[in-house]
Amino acid sequence: DIVDPFFIRSQNQQLLPLTPSEVVRNARRAFRTNKTKPLKYRESQLKALLKFFEECRTDIEDALQRDLRKHPQEVNLAEVILVTNDIRHSLIEMKKWVSPKQPSKRLINILEDVEIHNDPYGVVLIIGAWNYPVLLTLGPLIGALTAGNCVVLKPSEMAPATSSLLSKTLTKYLDPETFYVVEGGIQETTELLEEKFDYIFFTGSTTVGKIVHQAAAKNLTPTTLELGGKCPCYLDNTVNIEIATRRIIWGKIMNAGQTCICVDYLLCTTEVKENFLKSASKVLAEFYGNEKLPSDMSKIISPNHFKRLMRLIENADIAIGGEYCETQCLLSPTILVNVKKTDPVMQEEIFGPILPILEIQNCDEAIEYINDNEKPLALYVFSNDEKVQKRFLEETSSGSVSINDTLMQICTENLPFGGVGASGMGAYHGEEGFKTFSHQKSVLKTMLSPITEIGLQSRYPPYNESKIAM
Ligand code: NAD
Repeated sequence: DIVDPFFIRSQNQQLLPLTPSEVVRNARRAFRTNKTKPLKYRESQLKALLKFFEECRTDIEDALQRDLRKHPQEVNLAEVILVTNDIRHSLIEMKKWVSPKQPSKRLINILEDVEIHNDPYGVVLIIGAWNYPVLLTLGPLIGALTAGNCVVLKPSEMAPATSSLLSKTLTKYLDPETFYVVEGGIQETTELLEEKFDYIFFTGSTTVGKIVHQAAAKNLTPTTLELGGKCPCYLDNTVNIEIATRRIIWGKIMNAGQTCICVDYLLCTTEVKENFLKSASKVLAEFYGNEKLPSDMSKIISPNHFKRLMRLIENADIAIGGEYCETQCLLSPTILVNVKKTDPVMQEEIFGPILPILEIQNCDEAIEYINDNEKPLALYVFSNDEKVQKRFLEETSSGSVSINDTLMQICTENLPFGGVGASGMGAYHGEEGFKTFSHQKSVLKTMLSPITEIGLQSRYPPYNESKIAM
């Protein structure tokens, strides 16, 4: 029997949440009933997810305010619109995606039907990150539901208000037999990873990504790893510096720089750096007036992360910013100059509103520096020189490239979103999300008729020369 979806009763009559193995067992039983497979069921779940956004909009804003002091406009732009657009897009396209595909046939298959079926994997685990705790848990969920899977969702414990909202409220919208939320941190994630899933989708750091990958390997479970790293931004003197600066700064201060694809550091010549600094002061005044610690900007997620950022700027040369409030975990947009490749700020992903400027001689040196380091999740190129743009596209490898803008590459459902090398493997968004959570099953169907058998004689023993000639 399926255990009560939310709770089991312990011996002393206390209500306790299900253990990870009970969750997986229930989800697997539900999957075996085949209830997630009809298109109508999948549509009903996507519509329920959309309803959650419509009816719980204020709760979502409140949770993100409590977790990250996220401004409602950022919530709208980067957490709600991206997910709801993706749901609507999937609802429109899913019939086409789900239906079997007929590949072209060759003479050898002329009497056979060949098809590619998109099978749901079964029970999938989605582990989310805290920086966009709605987008990065419910974004992958869209692909998983569209593909007809049962889902176990593990939101990040670092964003507890959002985690609790998803666990207490979202579960009321989706089918409690096929959708589960397990709250918790390292211990709960470790326990979940001991279970056998059919697919694991992880968003988080490269370090934990390796742990997840190893745990998945024990069961040969396929995984998507959406990881992090340092995203470079190259800027040259062929662009309108004011517009370029506005876009680069916006790409840095969104969610206080706690964005996996945010600009991590700037690569430019000394001359461009001087112009950028002048523009940056103007742009920051335009954005925030005289506010040193802008009230529109998110806070740093935790005191530990705040201290980590303070250590990165401790002995640095601060050209702009550097103001902070430790008790509220606030840090102003901070630009560092005279940065060396060996500085601590260049050794790890910053994940905060700090922008180091690394001076280079030319585009060759920038490309060489990027290729000397791990493959980034995103690469930004600000240049109107098409030869320069082409060189970055052809001579470097990264999850995505955006030319003359930041962050916007994730806003198009038709562009797959994912990393390469240390920044991850696999991708999602739109049809790519559906494909990620589907197994492409090859199907061949033919007739058992004596007439077709005549044409197949050459494949049967005894082998001889006359048959080879056939
Ligand atoms: P994290 O790797 O610390 O945590 C992610 C999840 O893993 C959490 O749910 C946590 O409970 C769990 N976890 C942590 N330590 C674990 C352990 N030892 N064993 C098992 N599970 C463990 O990442 P984070 O701090 O939530 O997010 C920040 C990182 O994520 C950054 O590197 C950022 O670039 C990256 N990120 C990537 C994307 C993307 O789409 N590629 C998006 C957002 C964040």
